[in-house]
Amino acid sequence: MEACKLMTTAVVAIGGNAILRKGQLPTMENQMENLRNTCRHIALMVHEGYGVTLSHGNGPQVGDILLQNEAAKDEIPPMPLDVCVAESQGLVGYLFQQSMTEELEARGLERTVPCMLTRAIVDESDAAFSAPSKPIGPYYTAVEARTLERTKGWAMREDRARGGWRRVVPSPRPIGIVEAGPISRLVGGGSDLVIAAGGGGIPVVRRGGRLVGVEAVVDKDLASACLAKGIQADELIMLTDVDGAYLDHGTPRERPLREITTDEAERHLREGHFPPGSMGPKVEAAIDFVRSGGRRALITRPELLHTALSSKAGTQIQDR
Ligand code: ADP
Ligand code: MG
Repeated sequence: MEACKLMTTAVVAIGGNAILRKGQLPTMENQMENLRNTCRHIALMVHEGYGVTLSHGNGPQVGDILLQNEAAKDEIPPMPLDVCVAESQGLVGYLFQQSMTEELEARGLERTVPCMLTRAIVDESDAAFSAPSKPIGPYYTAVEARTLERTKGWAMREDRARGGWRRVVPSPRPIGIVEAGPISRLVGGGSDLVIAAGGGGIPVVRRGGRLVGVEAVVDKDLASACLAKGIQADELIMLTDVDGAYLDHGTPRERPLREITTDEAERHLREGHFPPGSMGPKVEAAIDFVRSGGRRALITRPELLHTALSSKAGTQIQDR
């Protein structure tokens, strides 16, 4: 029988900017300093009795792991992308463990913060596999790009603005989180903060009864919604570097969205207000989660988390 659920549970997805800002050197010190600011607000949430599963992006970190692989390839065989995502979960997960423990202790909460290596199941027949779209890793010359296409079968795309070629990989939709069961038992069983599904999860497909890692990346917002559904969380909170979702963002006519239904969100999405690489997946994740029975989804910045939880800031997507 399932344990009686007393606390409100939430999946809190944290954007890459909270870990490393554009242009910052990716030192451990810089990343820890950025994390401290975000973790302070999440510790407050735990202090107020929320059960939190924290998920996070991994863009800059997995990019650097790929660069390290490339630089050392003559001495150490490069690892496939699923392994690199797993490495980044360990790297970022550990930084969050350290930072969250400190911020919880500062509020008199003695907690062990577990971090779960998490696999996201994707469908091998997902259309994304025949249309790789997500650029990752180092820049190459046109000659190198052609060699990589031939020898490794990579899809390469030119980035004219940066004057180089990059590998593009599929970004299929997550359809399940392998570790949802254990994560949910941790959150319900006394760990009121668990780190999971970093970088969108390690992408795996089901093949003949086995789970096989694949060369792809999963969007962290969509994976967080999948996780939130899988552990039956009450809320999905996406923390990023804007107050919330806007209509006509970046134009003189921009206006914030405060409380919207999933139908309204879907209409704005269709009208093109939320681009695919940034706000789009957050709004899609929110719609998916709320329509699957989630109480509400929230989009805001870490500094506004507390105010947003009492519905006074951010964008709230809910249907009641
Ligand atoms: P994260 O790393 O948190 O996922 P993203 O860069 O993917 O961050 O998404 C957040 C960005 O989305 C913001 O910095 C903002 O510039 C951009 N954005 C695009 N469209 C919108 C919109 N309609 N409303 C708000 N922000 C938007
Ligand atoms: Mg993003």
